[in-house]
Amino acid sequence: MSKVNILGVNFDNKTFKQFQNEFINRINNHLSTFVVTANPEIVMAANENPEFMKILQRDTDYITPDAIGIIKASRMIKEPMPERVTGYDLFTWLMRVADERELRVYLIGAKPAVIHAVQEKIGREYSNLKLVGAEDGYFTEDLELVARRIQRTQPDLVFAALGFPKQEQLLAILRRNALPALMMGVGGSFDVFSG
Ligand code: UDP
Repeated sequence: MSKVNILGVNFDNKTFKQFQNEFINRINNHLSTFVVTANPEIVMAANENPEFMKILQRDTDYITPDAIGIIKASRMIKEPMPERVTGYDLFTWLMRVADERELRVYLIGAKPAVIHAVQEKIGREYSNLKLVGAEDGYFTEDLELVARRIQRTQPDLVFAALGFPKQEQLLAILRRNALPALMMGVGGSFDVFSG
């Protein structure tokens, strides 16, 4: 089975390595790619919020199992997924890929001091990637405007750390506009990465 349906959310049944290979392929081909790394909280939220569920069902290209609870649920329904594929692991791997390939990266989310610390870390440890945007997640404009600002920078990778469902709402706009980038919501990853 290539998809595993858990309470209406269709997870991709792949190993970490398979996701990596497919993402590299899509980056190489400049395909618009929206990735959600979902945990039980996201699945429950989607079941309570039809708009959020619609985004997960219609706008995403990949949904990975971010938590052991999702792996356990897949075993219970006898469609076992092989392993956890977390947002943080994908994020740190993609940042290394971006550094190696000098990709254009847009980061949005977390508190001003956190995004500042992330920027400094990138300057020190990922100096080959092109940081085309780094802004905190406490903007007051509507998401359409923010999406336009991101699009103008022509990023290859977009990471949104706004918490769900806001990060997915923003990335869904970019995906509907077919921005040729790989986009992923990364929750609290900037806070961890900056520390
Ligand atoms: N965040 C943000 N803007 C907001 C709300 C949250 O940038 O309006 C950031 C927050 O600072 C944190 C990240 O979103 O860095 C993830 O928050 P949380 O841990 O609540 O989300 P989860 O990881 O559970 O999705």
